[in-house]
Amino acid sequence: HVEEDEKNHFWRKEIFLKMAELGFFGFSIDEKYGGNGMGFLEGTLAIEQIAKIHTSWRMAFNMQCWGPALTIQKFGTEEQKQHYIPKFVSGEYIGSFAMTEPDIGSDVASMKCHADDKGDYYLLNGNKMWITNGTVTNHGLLYVKTDKDAGANGISCFIMDYSLPGITRKKINDKVGLWASDTAELTFEDVKVPKSLLLGKLNKGFQMCMTQLNSTRLGCSANCGYESRA
Ligand SMILES: Cc1cc2nc3c(=O)[nH]c(=O)nc-3n(C[C@H](O)[C@H](O)[C@H](O)COP(=O)(O)OP(=O)(O)OC[C@H]3O[C@@H](n4cnc5c(N)ncnc54)[C@H](O)[C@@H]3O)c2cc1C
Repeated sequence: HVEEDEKNHFWRKEIFLKMAELGFFGFSIDEKYGGNGMGFLEGTLAIEQIAKIHTSWRMAFNMQCWGPALTIQKFGTEEQKQHYIPKFVSGEYIGSFAMTEPDIGSDVASMKCHADDKGDYYLLNGNKMWITNGTVTNHGLLYVKTDKDAGANGISCFIMDYSLPGITRKKINDKVGLWASDTAELTFEDVKVPKSLLLGKLNKGFQMCMTQLNSTRLGCSANCGYESRA
């Protein structure tokens, strides 16, 4: 389907679920949370093979195991690990990670999207841009400012629930490629985020983000490895 999906800018769930069924989202994940018993080297080889068919679908590895699942495995509570990781591995949760904003790219520490502590919950407002799986994700990592004046030391990470009220998703179709991979702009307006969705410690999100980028950059470079040989 992928050539047809490229033309139609269509993200096909059945391909995603087939990849999950084949164990593609279990690389580097502890077997007690559903991992496939293989690590970064084997994952890189698998991504190269998928990239050979189409680069749009190698993105899914980063959105599931090397983005959300692995970051939760490193920084989450035992309860969060048991709840979320098996669902990212099995494809029950369609994952994502969101740090980029309309005016903030490489300089992650300058992000503006913010969540204010309201006692029982955080009140979230702002925008995220170029988010892979943006229109289809149901749970994913969301990096926001929780202390606006603290730069990199004021960023936290939520394991966001995208069914919460106040979220608008706008699909982006004018990319130069990767058309069968979903990309979107997300807008958050007065979203009440339960405190239980905070990953790890408050204001420690920048370290999580940099750790996550170490593994997701490997996912991107595995694709480049194939492309350079093609
Ligand atoms: C298809 C696609 C999918 C994406 N998916 C996601 C996603 O799922 N989640 C997410 O959060 N983001 C995502 N992004 C965003 C991506 O991570 C950003 O594009 C990236 O962080 C760069 O940001 P920018 O585009 O604003 O470029 P900029 O940060 O503006 O950089 C522009 C250029 O300047 C260079 N540059 C920047 N700063 C410096 C510096 N200090 N010194 C020297 N050179 C510098 C850069 O290397 C680059 O060449 C996606 C982007 C695309 C295109």
